[in-house]
Amino acid sequence: MAVILDGAAVAKKILQKIASEIAQLKITPKLAIVFVGNDPASEIYIKNKLLAAKSIGIGLELVKFPSETPLEVILQSIGTLNVDRSINGIIVQSPLPDEFMQNIVFNSISPEKDVDGFCSVSIAKLVRGSRDGFIPCTPLGIYTLLREYGINLFGKHVAVIGRGNIVGRPLSLLLSQKSPDLNATVTLCHSATENLKAITQLADIIVVAIGRKFFLRRDMVKPGAVAIDVGINRESSDDPSKKYKIFGDMDFEDLKDICSAITPVPGGVGPMTIAMLMQNTLEATKMQMTKAGGANRNRTDG
Ligand code: NAP
Repeated sequence: MAVILDGAAVAKKILQKIASEIAQLKITPKLAIVFVGNDPASEIYIKNKLLAAKSIGIGLELVKFPSETPLEVILQSIGTLNVDRSINGIIVQSPLPDEFMQNIVFNSISPEKDVDGFCSVSIAKLVRGSRDGFIPCTPLGIYTLLREYGINLFGKHVAVIGRGNIVGRPLSLLLSQKSPDLNATVTLCHSATENLKAITQLADIIVVAIGRKFFLRRDMVKPGAVAIDVGINRESSDDPSKKYKIFGDMDFEDLKDICSAITPVPGGVGPMTIAMLMQNTLEATKMQMTKAGGANRNRTDG
């Protein structure tokens, strides 16, 4: 039976640590979330971020726009948040109505406040392997969870399925960095990958981030491999007390006795993503305080 990589428990521990650091800071870190449109899944993610932030003493400002809002209006709002000294971190909840717009909007966030790590400066730092930029929260959460369970990446073959800009691609860049705690050999797979099964069967660690329920099955996995499930697939629930049920991209029941370790869905990568957002917001706050040279200054005064 595989070790269950309990992201919920690890995230809770990280959030407690962040809360005690924040208690020493004398200021309240503040995260702004820009939300365009009314995607129901995004509303749930925002609610979860809000609850986590509140529980550890991070303030949250939600800036909402209808989906037809002109790009310039959103950019102007981000420009204002960029120079607002009471705001330490800014994220734009994805997806935005179109991808072209999404790239421009991500890029408009000041690198110092880019706690989701999606602006070009943050991505360039990830590509170069420099550790002073913000790393996107889901890849950072996966790395942190593996480290927490003592799962070594050095020299291992990692198959990442999905090359999305939020998870798969940045994860492949992170895990392949030349560093003693990383140094994995990464194969980045996607919908045009030929012989995917032959690749996953060779992998020591498999990460699936594609959004297809139960895509990864037993016959695709080498015995003893580590399986990390990023997928969130919603289906309406038979249980009248629940609106929907969540499934991952892996068939957990099918895989749990062939893998050496596996993440559940829910309770695996999802809570780690939120914990990393809070961690990045704390880091951003500390860096801004150091830069301002006034750790004890109360920014609410102006
Ligand atoms: P995305 O940007 O749409 O990327 C999906 C990727 O999956 C694409 O690269 C696509 O290939 C690939 N793909 C689709 N079908 C495939 C197939 N049959 N075989 C191989 N590759 C296939 O999605 P995303 O934003 O990365 O999200 C992926 C999943 O992760 C979603 O379920 C999302 O809800 C979830 N997610 C979870 C968290 C968390 O915290 N747990 C965070 C973010 C996202 P092409 O590039 O060739 O089209």
